[in-house]
Amino acid sequence: MLILMRLGATEEQIQEVCDAIKARGFDPLLLPGEDRRAVGVPAALSNDQKVDLEGVISRLPGVSKITQTSSPFKLASIEYHPNPTVIPVKDVEIGTDEFVVFGGPCSVESYEQFSTAAKMVKEAGSKVLRGGAFKPRTSPYSFQGLQEEGLRIIQQVGKETGLATISEVMAADMVETVAEYVDILQIGARSMQNFPLLIEAGKSGKPVFLKRGPAATIDEFLLASEYLLNQGNENVILCERGVLPIDRTYVRNTLDLNSVPVLKELTHLPVIVDPSHGVGVARYVPAMAKAAMFAGADGVMIEMHPDPREALSDGSQALDPATFSQLLGEFKQLAPIAGKRF
Ligand code: PEP
Ligand code: MN
Repeated sequence: MLILMRLGATEEQIQEVCDAIKARGFDPLLLPGEDRRAVGVPAALSNDQKVDLEGVISRLPGVSKITQTSSPFKLASIEYHPNPTVIPVKDVEIGTDEFVVFGGPCSVESYEQFSTAAKMVKEAGSKVLRGGAFKPRTSPYSFQGLQEEGLRIIQQVGKETGLATISEVMAADMVETVAEYVDILQIGARSMQNFPLLIEAGKSGKPVFLKRGPAATIDEFLLASEYLLNQGNENVILCERGVLPIDRTYVRNTLDLNSVPVLKELTHLPVIVDPSHGVGVARYVPAMAKAAMFAGADGVMIEMHPDPREALSDGSQALDPATFSQLLGEFKQLAPIAGKRF
């Protein structure tokens, strides 16, 4: 529910509205506006609750209009927050007209590998350095990541390069540890609906990069983001990384670029596209990365390995350094046409 106040409504009148909402057990949300203030009730209200609350509030002075919001997500909705959310991390802001590239290997494998990759992605124009330390692998026999040692390497290389860093956290009880080492917490696709993890990540106060589940609808994706937002964490970045394909003969996933303009219409949160996991085949990644820019994404996450043939995870989708830097060169040329800066 959204309560639009009249032009010139007083602080006392707004307070009265908030008190009426609180008296019925809900938390009011004050929404700043250019000239008119509004108050939101970010809760799933039953029909009886709607009628009751609307009846009481419509009689209060200073109230102009009450609308029932149609979306199941509230804090993520553009109705509650008409201006785009901008997330500052180190020297970069995510969610402006700057196209932000998150680059780096799938996994941190050693200090040498990660530091070499970091220098290359920075040189090419990336602002955020990615690297997995705790890896969600389909098989328990596959490389599981360097774990806390990997986090120490990320922190060190982050300091050396000045790049913002991101790494995945897989469990609620690991949030505090991962948050000590990196600038952005990544919630992997397989964890999108791990609600205890979302709640802890929400509480951490760190920016959270939420990947879309392989079979998640847009509403499920946004409701997962709502778990982070309603812990008081406003710094949520959405990542489209592809959904289960009909045909796995040629690609790993289907990169759902439809979701980009849809999400941009529904939410104020920044949207990043990950074409690496989205297609899973290195030679198709550049085309889909450029398509993501033109679909309106705020940036891309791209896996790059100094020597993809030697990669301990996701080697077949990792760009080699030359292709990575060529792609970022193309971003520079294309960005103005797509209405972006790079
Ligand atoms: C990753 O970013 O390396 C990763 C495991 O991604 P996803 O969760 O999208 O599969
Ligand atoms: Mn990967």
